[in-house]
Amino acid sequence: TESYRFEHVLGRGAFGEVVLGVDLHSDRQYAIKKLATASLRQGNLKAEIHILKEMRHPNIISLREVFATEEYVYLVMEYAKGGALLDVVVREGKLSESFAAACCMQIADALQFMHARGIVHRDVKPENVLIDSTGHVKLCDFGSALDLQPVMTSVLTAIAEQAVKKDAKHKKNRCASFVGTAEYVAPEILEGCAETTTAVDLWSIGVMTFQLLTGRVPFKDKTEYLTMQAVLKGKYVYPPEANVSSAAKDFIDKPVSYTHLRAHETEADLVCRLLLE
Ligand code: ATP
Ligand code: MG
Repeated sequence: TESYRFEHVLGRGAFGEVVLGVDLHSDRQYAIKKLATASLRQGNLKAEIHILKEMRHPNIISLREVFATEEYVYLVMEYAKGGALLDVVVREGKLSESFAAACCMQIADALQFMHARGIVHRDVKPENVLIDSTGHVKLCDFGSALDLQPVMTSVLTAIAEQAVKKDAKHKKNRCASFVGTAEYVAPEILEGCAETTTAVDLWSIGVMTFQLLTGRVPFKDKTEYLTMQAVLKGKYVYPPEANVSSAAKDFIDKPVSYTHLRAHETEADLVCRLLLE
């Protein structure tokens, strides 16, 4: 902690906060995620650090170093000055198709890189997409990421236990290993603990594209539970005033409607085809 000067809070999440830190020697800015050391025991923090360390890609936030005190673990990450993509959507109402396409293409690229290495992000959404000072977008928040290698089954179990405890009320209606965010979650996850595949990230990218172009998410209801029911029904309509082009609709409809297609094609093939068409 003595090598950084902590400035303002950049964002808050479920387990801690992200603070702007300045390196006292170089005067460079970093985003420092501060998490309670106690959460190390929950397993997913270890996975988050491990995965983030491995994932070196221009469209993935890079991890510089990790240090810990008795109380906290600090993840020192590259600082994305432009903030979260969600804030841009909220501010602008909706994005132009060319800007949205540029963002989605970069995120698809990051996902393809991760998926090739057996990592599923599981929480792709505009809140977890950051914009850097040059306007490039970067995927962040690997707190829900899953390594498909069998070594990680202990993490899955820990997450599952946590999810069950957290929402005992809706227990029978949701998968025990539900992680992520209801609005962006793929139906097969809600349906009955089907094995998680990289295809779940493609669903989320479809949902995210819808949101970037219309200013709202396709599946949304009063409660998280009702939102999940909407996801399972799978019906959504484009607000006519958003004027979404048929090419963009095609890009969204493929990952979001065809569970079958997502599940049976390799994500790389699908993403490439969607982007090249
Ligand atoms: P979890 O879902 O594991 O609880 P979280 O949501 O608490 O994670 P992040 O999503 O990593 O944590 O970060 C929370 C917010 O902090 C982001 O939405 C973003 O606004 C801000 N933030 C995170 N990392 C950076 C960064 N590298 N540069 C700028 N802002 C960041
Ligand atoms: Mg987050």
